Amino acid sequence: MQNQGLTKNQLKASTFLNEQLQYLETKHRLRFEKRRTSCPFHSEANPSMSQYIDKDGVVRFHCFGCGINEDIFGIMGRLEKHASFNVCFSTFRRFVEEKRKWGTNAKP
Ligand SMILES: [Zn+2]
Repeated sequence: MQNQGLTKNQLKASTFLNEQLQYLETKHRLRFEKRRTSCPFHSEANPSMSQYIDKDGVVRFHCFGCGINEDIFGIMGRLEKHASFNVCFSTFRRFVEEKRKWGTNAKP
């Protein structure tokens, strides 16, 4: 039974798109509308950061203004100034597991 412990590849994939967007909105007030949001790394008049899913099924965030292109962990690392990928990974995994525990977005 390996029910515990989502992997980093699972967590950054499109399966967890909703959780990723919820995380970014809850923690960083990044609100996506029609897959667009204002880039958190500089000020701008029009939202230039877009969210898409690459050919491997990984959710990515790309800014047409500054050129940043990251998955959820890369964005977290930049926003939260974490020294390590592992901190971002465990933080986001905890966020997802808490949500599941409380039954929001519960999947069979
Ligand atoms: Zn930008």
